[in-house]
Amino acid sequence: MSFNTAIGQRNQKLSVIKNEKFDLLVIGGGVTGAGIALDAACRGLKTLLIEKDDYASGTSSKSTKLIHGGLRYLKQFEFGLVREVGREREIVWRNAPHLVHPEKMLLPLVKNGSLNKLGASVGIYVYDYLAGVKSGERRKMLSSEETLKLEPLLDAKNVTGGALYTEYRTDDARLTIELIKTAENLGALCINYLKADQPIYENGKIKGFTTLDGITGEAFSVRAEGVINAAGPWVDEIRKADASLSNKHLKLSKGVHLVFSLEKLPVKQSLYFDVKGDKGRMIFVIPRGRAVYAGTTDTFYEDADHPNVTQADATYILNAVNAMFPDAKLVRSDIESSWSGVRPLIMEAGKSASELSRKDELFVSQSGMVSIAGGKLTGYRKMAERSIDAWLKLHPYAASNTKKCETQNIRLTGSDFKNKKEFVQRLVDSCGQIPYSVIQLENLFEKYGSETEKIVAYAYDVFNGDRTCINPLGKAELLYTIRHEQVIKPEDYFVRRSGMVYFNRNQVEEMQIELASAWVDFTGLEEIKLQNYQADFGHTLAKTLQFQ
Ligand code: FAD
Repeated sequence: MSFNTAIGQRNQKLSVIKNEKFDLLVIGGGVTGAGIALDAACRGLKTLLIEKDDYASGTSSKSTKLIHGGLRYLKQFEFGLVREVGREREIVWRNAPHLVHPEKMLLPLVKNGSLNKLGASVGIYVYDYLAGVKSGERRKMLSSEETLKLEPLLDAKNVTGGALYTEYRTDDARLTIELIKTAENLGALCINYLKADQPIYENGKIKGFTTLDGITGEAFSVRAEGVINAAGPWVDEIRKADASLSNKHLKLSKGVHLVFSLEKLPVKQSLYFDVKGDKGRMIFVIPRGRAVYAGTTDTFYEDADHPNVTQADATYILNAVNAMFPDAKLVRSDIESSWSGVRPLIMEAGKSASELSRKDELFVSQSGMVSIAGGKLTGYRKMAERSIDAWLKLHPYAASNTKKCETQNIRLTGSDFKNKKEFVQRLVDSCGQIPYSVIQLENLFEKYGSETEKIVAYAYDVFNGDRTCINPLGKAELLYTIRHEQVIKPEDYFVRRSGMVYFNRNQVEEMQIELASAWVDFTGLEEIKLQNYQADFGHTLAKTLQFQ
């Protein structure tokens, strides 16, 4: 098998980045920056996106992984936000159907809970209306018997009824990477492990950044006609570097999720419920394959680079889940994995973390840098559209040569299929002699959609090269992510491309051993560098179970 290694591909990109000037430099490879790069590319702008770490390594791999309108924002009268993201979810679903799955959410009503039947019924009715939910998917109010039938793990003595409404489940990190790939297919250049350091100005206007390469250690400049800052929780750091940080700044809020096996928390479906003893706060419990995750917390936090999980966070979620499902009797040792991320919210004096608005906001500096912060994963497309529109206003010469925003009609990579069942059957048929299981193919399809065809083709190469290989699809998945998704470090693959660290934690060690020899061959990394990255990954893995 011969192919250009990840490092080889990256070096080719670097030589273009160093030698060419771009129309637009986007800072940040979370969902917001990735959405902006896609929007810019499809309008015809010569676009460069740089990400200091790996794509989605910030907040965009640490969310509750829902494409939703945010039922709870109604309580804060955020009607505009609910309406916009509610409508956006329809578009995300249409454009990335392999990554967005309708999921019925059960809201159990309990004795002494914050919601009564009338309140829940009216609230979700308004939510459905604002979010433009189709008639067949609108909320259904349930009796206590119906509620317990749907979720027998609930406490029968406590349940007074329920409401069933529609949410959409996704994989935030994979959504981000599909956006990056789609942007690249339309001509954008995106690179991870390249940090924006200091702005470069010409006549007082921002014209690029000095950068630091996290793989080679090299420092060099990138040049562009203008810059959009989509650095999520780090937006203010970039604004500071541009000397444009104003009174309106970010306030970070930390959110933690814990993962259990479905055996330990055998819920039959997704739920959203009150946290006992913390009035007004609610958490989700969401089954996913062989695992279930529960969260989130919402507390102010300063350090965007190290969002940890404290003992208090873990206890808060364990207590909330045990109060709703007393038979589960979950304890610390039942936790299989965890993640913690920070919400980049806009500061409003006197408000608690939960009360701060989730709306996005644009800042335009004197040097012409556009910054975007706040918002939701679900609303990334509209945020991107607004950012590019604002940027084009500052660059009228570019505006005259660009097309209108078309992202509502752009299907993301992996969405080239009509019917999931038929597609998976085709994959099964095409596996021929290579060892596979249907579940493995279904799991791959949920992550890579129609691109799974390429993974099966790579599995043939792997298998033909070594007939004793027992998991050619596993090796082929790694190979695919290295070739097509800029995977360089073990963490990129195990945490963000495959999601294994969160949802198949028990397989990580085994897969690490199985894939060890493939890493050097596939990536082109020096052995010593790979060892360092493997050690870093060991720390990351340990951290998912260390609660300080
Ligand atoms: P990020 O994903 O953090 O991306 C910013 C990127 O910029 C990072 O990757 C960072 O490394 C990079 N960067 C920073 N500085 C530099 C630099 N100097 N040079 C280059 N790159 C740089 N939204 C929903 O719609 N649904 C949900 O279910 C949901 N649940 C949530 C639950 C929690 C606990 C949290 C914290 C958020 C949740 N959200 C949800 C909100 C959503 O996750 C965020 O709005 C979204 O992910 C923010 O994306 P972003 O791209 O703006 O930021």
